[in-house]
Amino acid sequence: MSIVTVENLVKEFGELVAVDDASFEIEDGEFVSVLGPSGSGKSTILRMIAGFEEPTGGTIVLNGESVVGVPPFHRDVNMVFQNLALFPHLTVADNIAYGLKQSGVPKAERTERIEEMLSVVDLRGYGDRKPEQLSGGEQQRVALARAIVNEPEIVLFDEPLASLDRKLRQHMQVELQRIQAETGITFMYVTHDQEVAVAVSDRMILLNDGRIEQIGTPEELYDDPVSKFVADFIGDVNTFSGTVRNVVDDTATIELLGATVETTIRASQAPMITEGETVAVCIRPSQLSVANGVESGETVEIAGTVENRIYQGDGVTFMIQTDEGRLTVEDEAPYDIGDEVTVTGSWTEAYAFPGGD
Ligand code: ADP
Ligand code: MG
Repeated sequence: MSIVTVENLVKEFGELVAVDDASFEIEDGEFVSVLGPSGSGKSTILRMIAGFEEPTGGTIVLNGESVVGVPPFHRDVNMVFQNLALFPHLTVADNIAYGLKQSGVPKAERTERIEEMLSVVDLRGYGDRKPEQLSGGEQQRVALARAIVNEPEIVLFDEPLASLDRKLRQHMQVELQRIQAETGITFMYVTHDQEVAVAVSDRMILLNDGRIEQIGTPEELYDDPVSKFVADFIGDVNTFSGTVRNVVDDTATIELLGATVETTIRASQAPMITEGETVAVCIRPSQLSVANGVESGETVEIAGTVENRIYQGDGVTFMIQTDEGRLTVEDEAPYDIGDEVTVTGSWTEAYAFPGGD
């Protein structure tokens, strides 16, 4: 069942269109990330769902009822912000129970719910502490407990982990996933960090300049991006300009760097990739290889110099300076900074998008 249905949502601030005709549905119990660069409209979408901002156009239906014009506290939605806004003078327990108290839940039940929540967020025994006596990660978990204690239909998160260091952020990601699975509450999670989104989400909504570029599972966005923007945002790509020579079934022959390569065209791109069209050919670092300067017999060979090499757990990322610009290549090759190398690619797996680079 769909818990959130957004149709043709628009938000204008004067001349500026912050959200431009966004439509999507979120299913009950899903973990959905809203992803995109800074300023792409993520917070504005969340704030409209929460009720802090009224749309200029379009509809928002929560749990079967239109909420446009309904004030935030009458929506079955809680929001967790980056600045957690815990009450500094209240204990952890009182912070968690604040909303319950406001809505008249009796003390005995409140105490029970607090204990339950402290257990869910792994803070048993912390109820009497003040927020200042907690680490950043512990404060995060209190904010989370407060957001789920009244069992809302949906919890909205606006970059809640942005201020944490990397290790703590990764730990909190795992915690968020666990708590979401345990409670079954629908999570809608805003971030500009694609690594976080890929790690935690059932599905992702990727925004670009107020418009939805693509909606899908992390795998769908990674394996079958609909645009260069998506390919670039979800994992890196190297981009070259090419011209389509011909298309036979799902294979396009593309003129690239003075040679031709064959690339498999995804169904979503097929109508746009036609003979004579200028295309952006995007290839992932893992689909490129480095060899020493000797000709390898591949159709496309790009000469370059190793500018940098970064050890990863399972290989090496090379930055290669070439006449075509700087390329990123993941390979296991033994080259060092300053070595002259040749870059080749598995071009069948590359993506071709209309419009050149
Ligand atoms: P994100 O969360 O993706 O970084 P926002 O939703 O905060 O982006 O903002 C989208 C665009 O709308 C930005 O250009 C931002 O400057 C603008 N914007 C957001 N809120 C307001 C506001 N209250 N008044 C005017 N412009 C705003
Ligand atoms: Mg924001």
